[in-house]
Amino acid sequence: MTEQQPLKLIVAYDRNRNDYSLVAHNQTPEEAQSFLDQWTRHLREGNSFVVLEQTKWHATEKAQSCRACRNTAARSGQLQSQPKFVRRKE
Ligand SMILES: [Zn+2]
Repeated sequence: MTEQQPLKLIVAYDRNRNDYSLVAHNQTPEEAQSFLDQWTRHLREGNSFVVLEQTKWHATEKAQSCRACRNTAARSGQLQSQPKFVRRKE
């Protein structure tokens, strides 16, 4: 029996626009790391990648249209205070 790998999903967060998009999911830790190694340097100013833990395999083929990814990102403490479209007015 092989040990089950934890799965990761990758979110691209845009600080300028205060929104995020889904980049990839069902990534092994190695795949997620190699993605970051390859693409982090190409990010524009104010953009960053956030890697989140998946609790289970996501059946949707594309992360961009994956509801489970959106739910995970919404629940994540790392994005929780960063609403996608709404800006709170003081
Ligand atoms: Zn997903």
